[in-house]
Amino acid sequence: MPDINGKTVVYGIIGRPVEHSFSPAMQNAAFKETGLNSVYVPFGPAPGQIEAAVAGIKALGLGGVNVTVPYKEAVMPYLDELTEEAVLCGAVNTVINRQGRLTGHNTDGAGFISDLRGSCDFEPSRGPALIMGAGGSARAVAVSLAGAGCRELALVNRNRERALKLAAEVTGTTGVAVQVFPWAPGHAELAEFARGAALLVNCTPVGMSTKPNKEFPLPGELPGQGQLAYDLVYNPPSTPFLLLAEQNRAKTANGLGMLLHQGALAFTAWTGLQAPLEVMRRVLLEQAYGKTPGGV
Ligand code: NDP
Repeated sequence: MPDINGKTVVYGIIGRPVEHSFSPAMQNAAFKETGLNSVYVPFGPAPGQIEAAVAGIKALGLGGVNVTVPYKEAVMPYLDELTEEAVLCGAVNTVINRQGRLTGHNTDGAGFISDLRGSCDFEPSRGPALIMGAGGSARAVAVSLAGAGCRELALVNRNRERALKLAAEVTGTTGVAVQVFPWAPGHAELAEFARGAALLVNCTPVGMSTKPNKEFPLPGELPGQGQLAYDLVYNPPSTPFLLLAEQNRAKTANGLGMLLHQGALAFTAWTGLQAPLEVMRRVLLEQAYGKTPGGV
C-alpha cells in the first residue's frame, strides 16, 4: 500500500466489471518501484454514467485512467483529443490528463507489437499474418501489424459482414490489403493462407477458461513448425490453440505479454518515465497464475 498524502496523484481504470482487473496491482507496483507519489484504483461506473465519469477525471484532477471493456469506445466523444493510435484502433484504452485537457490514446496495438518484437523475437515484416476474430482486439492487432511492416493480412471470423467491414477499414487507413475468410473448417483457401502465414493470432475469447472451448477452422497440423501462434487469451496460460501449436512444434505466446506492454506504455504516457517492466511482469504473473510459470 503506497503512503497516501495531500500530494498523491490518482490514476485508475474504468470498466465494468472491473474487480478482476490485474492493472491496479501492476500499476501500483510500477509507481512504488519508481518512487512516484501516485496510486491507481478501479472504477466501475454504470453504462449511463460514462460522460460523468470522464468529466470526473477533469473535475477531480486525476492523472489519467485506463479504459477497459465495455467502455473503450463509449468514452471517446467526451475527450478533448485523440491520438492517431486511438483513431486507428477506433477505441481508447488510456486517457491522459494534462492540465485539464484529456487525450484519448490506445496502447493495445503497440503493446502487442512490443511483445512480438521483445519476448517473441518476431518481426511483423517476416510474413503474412492470419487473425482470428474481427472485434476490438482484432482491429488493434491488424492496424498495428500493418503499421509495423506486415504486408499481407487475413481475417477469419464467424460474422463475415463484421470481418469485411474491418478489412475495408484497415485497408483504408493503412493501405495494406486484408483478405477475409469464412469461419469454415476445411475451407481450402483459408487453409492455404494459414499454411503460408508466419503468424497466427487468436483475437477471440475461444480457449478462455470461462468459455466453452471451440476449435479453430484450421487444418490440424497448424500452427506448425516455423510459425508463431499468439493467443490474446492468457487464462489459462496454455490454451487449446497453444497446446496444439506446441505439439506441432510452432513457437507460442499467450496474451499476458500484450497486457504487460500496453500497461507499460500507458505508464510512460502518464509519467514520462520508463516503465519498470520486470517488476510489472512479476506482479502480472502472480496475479494471473499465482506463481511465475516461465516468461511473459
Ligand atoms: P470483441 O467482443 O470485440 O470481439 C470478439 C471476437 O471474437 C469477435 O470476432 C467474435 O466473432 C469472436 N468470437 C466470440 N466468441 C466466439 C466463438 N465461440 N467462436 C468463434 N468466434 C468467437 O472482443 P475483443 O476483441 O475485445 O477480445 C477478444 C479476446 O481477446 C478476449 O478473450 C479478450 O479477453 C482478449 N484480449 C486480450 C488482450 C490482452 O492484452 N492480452 C487485450 C484485448 C483483448 P463474431 O464477430 O462472429 O461475433
